[in-house]
This record gives sequence, structure tokens and C-alpha cells, in this order.
Amino acid sequence: MTATRIALIGIGKIARDQHIPHIAENPDFELVAAVTGHQPPEGVPGFKTIAEMMAAMPDVQAVSICTPPRGRLALVEQAVAHGLDVMLEKPPAATLSEAQAFAGIAADAGRVLYTTWHSREAAAVEPARQWLAGRDIRRVEVNWKEDVRVWHPGQAWIWEPGIGVFDPGINALSVITRILPRPLLLETAELRFPSNRDAPIAADLDFVDSAGVPVRVEFDFDQRGPQSWDIDVETDGGHLKLSMGASKMAVDGVAQNVGEEPEYARLYRRFAECLATRTSDVDLTPFAHVADAYLLGRRVVVDLFEE
Ligand code: NAP
Repeated sequence: MTATRIALIGIGKIARDQHIPHIAENPDFELVAAVTGHQPPEGVPGFKTIAEMMAAMPDVQAVSICTPPRGRLALVEQAVAHGLDVMLEKPPAATLSEAQAFAGIAADAGRVLYTTWHSREAAAVEPARQWLAGRDIRRVEVNWKEDVRVWHPGQAWIWEPGIGVFDPGINALSVITRILPRPLLLETAELRFPSNRDAPIAADLDFVDSAGVPVRVEFDFDQRGPQSWDIDVETDGGHLKLSMGASKMAVDGVAQNVGEEPEYARLYRRFAECLATRTSDVDLTPFAHVADAYLLGRRVVVDLFEE
């Protein structure tokens, strides 16, 4: 089988940190171009728009979109109009309606669309889902707390109206919506907005699952020192702990061997499967929970945030 000729759109932090090296390691893909307002990755040509790229390189087959969430609908529309299959960074869009719209556009055009959730590919997620299946879950606690200065240095888009702390928080939501056996319903939420910013820096969400099990979720974007990406689940059969962004798993304090395959290696493996079977993979559930937090959340104004 020949490698899929793929282009990256938006050459920022995540494209450079993860996409470029993992495409290079995956024989199912060949990085052939970039759509960028700045410098393309070394060794491939850069184009300002998808249309310019397709005029010069009509044999590009797929794009992986790594821009901020706002403006994704236009990019997916253009990509699909040029016959390209599409992989999208999380969160899939700026609004739920936008994501639903492009899912329909890709389906109608017969293009493959993969709305990725990189944290769902963390090594402990599938072992945790299997361990929890059939156990009686009593309580779930999520603490997803990181330093925005480290992970989004100087990124203005993260503070525009919209995503804020839900940018990392949605990673946790993507994990719990995969490992827990029943759907979640939001009961209450508190969103804390710095007085000088248009997006929340912290949020607490209280869900119940459809059997009434409480799921407490705390997000913070101002965590100095050690970062916390932890999920704790109390069950009738012991305590499950996922840590380090669900790359580690322990049961009653005993570490479990879950392997070490990196998230982005698995994302590109999954995209290759989607392409081989011509099937899309679109799950907007974590994004719907974020929208619900904005619908139900009490808004609290907190201190100024300065980077
Ligand atoms: P970033 O460093 O700001 O890069 C985004 C790139 O998108 C820019 O370099 C630019 O590419 C392009 N772009 C197009 N319109 C833009 C606009 N209005 N503002 C800023 N950039 C624009 O962002 P990132 O951290 O890579 O995040 C991109 C996506 O990946 C987000 O959805 C984010 O949630 C996700 N993600 C990020 C991380 C992380 O650790 N940072 C981890 C996982 C997922 P050109 O310079 O090529 O024009």
C-alpha cells in the first residue's frame, strides 16, 4: 500500500511538537506540504491556502488541521471541496453547531473525517475502560490542572471568548466519556473568568451518570509546579487511578503495565485505519459537555491574569 500524501494546516506548537515527528515515523503517511502563514516545516513546500496548495500539488490526499478551533468550518469546507480527507485537532471547532455542520459536509461528500481526541489515545484509557466494565462505580473525581504559561505560551486565541481552560479540560472529558460505562449529565458548574480575560481560567463541573453516580470535575489553568492530570474512580472492586494524562494506571495504589505507545502515534494509526476502511470517526460528546457548562455554569469573576 502506498503512503497517504498528507499536508499539515497550521504550523504551531502542536504541529511541531507532535504531528511532524509522528507523521515522519508512520509509513502510512508522507508529509508533502503545509498550509501556513509562516514557515513550512523543513523539506516541504508551504502555501497560503488549500486552494493554492491543490493548484500546485493536486495529488495531496489528506490534511491534518492544527490551527486554533475558530475558523475550522471554512477549512474543512475547502478541504472537502478539493476531495481531501480530513483529520482535526481537538477541540473540533469553536461551536457545536460548526462541528455538526462540517461532520455533515464531509459525510455528504464521501470524505473521511476524523475529529481526534488525543488524550483518548493515552496508554491507560483502554485498560481502564476494560477494568471498569462490569464493576460497580461509586464516585469519580477528575483533577486536570496545568500551567497555561507552559502549554500555551503567548497564544492569544486561548483567551478569546470560548475555550480557555476547557482546552485542556476537554482532554479529561474525552477520557471519562470513553472509560465510564454510562452517559453523563451536567448538574451544576462554576466558571471562573479573570477580570481581564474573555475565557475561563478555572471551572468546576458536577455531573451524575445515568445511574446517579457523582462525577466531580475540576479544571485549573493556573497550576504552578507539578501538573495534575488525574482521574480517580471508586468502585466495589477497588480504586482506579489514572495519572499523567491517563498514560499511567494504578489499582489500589499498585501500578499496572499499560504500555507506552505515544498518543499521537495512535492518532495517526487510527487515521490510517479510517482511511483504509473509508469510515469517519466523529464523536462530539466531550464538546457537548463543554457547551453544557456554558449553558448551566455560574460565572464568577476572579483576579487579573497576567502571563
Ligand atoms: P499555536 O501554537 O497557536 O499554533 C496554531 C497555528 O495555527 C499557528 O501557528 C498558525 O499557523 C495557525 N493559525 C491560523 N489561524 C490562527 C489564529 N487566528 N491564531 C493563531 N494561529 C493561527 O496553537 P497550538 O498549541 O499548536 O494549538 C493548535 C490546536 O492544537 C488547538 O486546537 C489546541 O487545542 C490543539 N492542541 C494543542 C496542544 C498544546 O500543547 N499546545 C496539545 C494538544 C492539542 P501558521 O503559523 O502555520 O500560519
